Amino acid sequence: MTPVLVINSGSSSFKYQLIDMDSEAILASGLVERIGEGLGAAEHTVYARPEPTATGAAGEPSGMATFLDAKRTRELPIPDHTAGFGVMLDAFAAGGPSLEANPPIAVGHRVVHGGARFFEPTLITPLVEINIDELGVLAPLHNPANLAGIRAARQAFPDVPHVAVFDTAFHQTLAPAAYTYAIDDALAASHRIRRYGFHGTSHKFVSEAAAAFLGRPLAELKQIVFHLGNGASVTAVDGGRSVDTSMGFTPLEGLVMGTRSGDIDPAVLFHLARREGMTIDDLDDLLNKRSGMLGLAGSNDLRDIRAAVERGDPRAQLAFEVYVHRLRSYAGAYLAQLGGADVISFTAGVGENAPLVRARALETLGFAGVEIDRARNESPDRGIRVISTDASKVTVLVVPTDEELEIARQTLGVAGR
Ligand code: ADP
Repeated sequence: MTPVLVINSGSSSFKYQLIDMDSEAILASGLVERIGEGLGAAEHTVYARPEPTATGAAGEPSGMATFLDAKRTRELPIPDHTAGFGVMLDAFAAGGPSLEANPPIAVGHRVVHGGARFFEPTLITPLVEINIDELGVLAPLHNPANLAGIRAARQAFPDVPHVAVFDTAFHQTLAPAAYTYAIDDALAASHRIRRYGFHGTSHKFVSEAAAAFLGRPLAELKQIVFHLGNGASVTAVDGGRSVDTSMGFTPLEGLVMGTRSGDIDPAVLFHLARREGMTIDDLDDLLNKRSGMLGLAGSNDLRDIRAAVERGDPRAQLAFEVYVHRLRSYAGAYLAQLGGADVISFTAGVGENAPLVRARALETLGFAGVEIDRARNESPDRGIRVISTDASKVTVLVVPTDEELEIARQTLGVAGR
């Protein structure tokens, strides 16, 4: 067994997964939350390993439930991340699998911002910690929280390599023409203002999974990947390299999201500051937390919006149309940047579960050889699948993303060297 522990740390919570890299099967997962608040909570789920059958193949899975062994929850005060890791270790000791019998050979950490400095998964040293800390200037909500998790995890697992996997890394292949904002260049340089792109771990995983699924060399494929979750971004991938992506200096730019506006004329902010007396913090809050689908129609969850559309709610109808309109604009832009596409993939909560979004986003692209098969698109199948017709020039896929597995793979790649 080759267990790798993956940590995704936020400011008041962290998620973890223990993955056996021999089979890439998940052994356990959990969530420690409300750290530093009165009463914290911890949830730990253990997955039974599929039993080999007489033929030697893995047992027939009938969905995740077959593998689900036990889920335990606890409520207790968790003053800081270090205490949180103690709670996680207790959960492994009580619920298994035993970390003493099979300790993780490495720990992989999701880090949101790697700036222009980190373009690949990186073994964490004290110097790397300092760099991640310093990059907190560019991602004040994320990097300090990621670092708190790294520091606590290094105390909990002092003897194994820890590896940072950056959300921005995959987009370090963007050309200057794609990442440069047309503003005063000296000012931009002194503040490191440029487009960085995010969700890179997912875009990399999905574009590689698509190529493997189709049995075609990654190097030959032009791909567009729509990652549509609460946060949403789209990336143009040429030969496995990110060449354009919709998120920019921060994860605010681009598509319409659950609570974020995506693209907007910056002059709207000057106007609101002047006319409404809104402060910088007010505007930050408005665009990041009170806009997108929430701002337009009162919920950040696309399922609510769809239900409201069904009821004939005009706000929800407009919100849905705005969402689709933006997807189309980017699909067209990236077809132009790539000079056409071989594959278009949809992933994450909305991308994997909302056939109507997929169909509406691509319905005008018949001229570019994109043809969705209605039955395939609406099929309740899970897993990676084709939703275009056999005649479609562009293959359209649904590809369930797995950022934790991608982090574990990259961690093993560094730690196993
Ligand atoms: P996050 O960005 O938080 O990781 P996810 O990728 O898990 O988000 O996506 C969460 C979002 O997916 C939800 O807010 C919801 O809008 C959407 N979603 C989940 N299931 C469905 C569904 N069946 N139909 C439409 N949207 C869905």
